[in-house]
Amino acid sequence: MRWFIFDKGDILLAPDGHIPASPECPIPLPPHFPLQPLPDFDNEPACAVQAPADTDLTTGNLRKEPLRSSFYLLTPAEYRMAGKARELLYWDSTSRFCSKCGAPMRRATDISKCCTACGREAWPALSIAIIVLIRRIAPSAQKEDEEVLLVHARNFAGNFHGLIAGFVETGENLEECLQREVMEETGLRVKNITYKASQPWPYPSGLMVGFFAEYAGGDLHLQDEELTCGGWFTRSNLPEIPGKMSLARQLIDMWMLEA
Ligand SMILES: [Zn+2]
Repeated sequence: MRWFIFDKGDILLAPDGHIPASPECPIPLPPHFPLQPLPDFDNEPACAVQAPADTDLTTGNLRKEPLRSSFYLLTPAEYRMAGKARELLYWDSTSRFCSKCGAPMRRATDISKCCTACGREAWPALSIAIIVLIRRIAPSAQKEDEEVLLVHARNFAGNFHGLIAGFVETGENLEECLQREVMEETGLRVKNITYKASQPWPYPSGLMVGFFAEYAGGDLHLQDEELTCGGWFTRSNLPEIPGKMSLARQLIDMWMLEA
């Protein structure tokens, strides 16, 4: 069995920095403790466990790692499954009662619940956000003169510059969300919106959808509430950029490789 064990937002890893594998759970659990089933991993059964608050985590020789930084230890497949495990545990802990009638929910399947009174069904919900790399080049300019818009948001955990991003609102499609967020945060208009990549974002339950777009007009006015600084940068004078775990970085790397 592969054990994706969490202590709040931290994941417990084997001494070699990977997901523990053992017949029994490597930490002590109370009798009949509910395990969250996961799809098989590496041809082995797998499950997710939220360690109870009073668990002795020193047994099993496990090391505790924030899920975000586990990206740099785990294999890509391990990190993806760890994110899914974390999202399912978060969903389980926030869906104990029916949001319509307040009665307890019971498990229907591995990824759904059913209300014990009114029968309402519920699945894990995703918050969907767009993220966009905005590029600008004068018609007669060379490729190396092309610029990218990079900003520093107040909620960034670090000094780096990233991309414009924001949550999709009800009734909006992705392109409308992108144009609204860009206008709100920068005062710019964009065109030629092109889908590039997406990424599950288990903090706590999101999906990032990444685009490229071209500058179409307007003067740069950064929204003071969300952004502290930002501007246009060429490939040869980039500021500090986000870590490799982020979709922002993947999009910036794609743009760098185009030159
Ligand atoms: Zn109900």
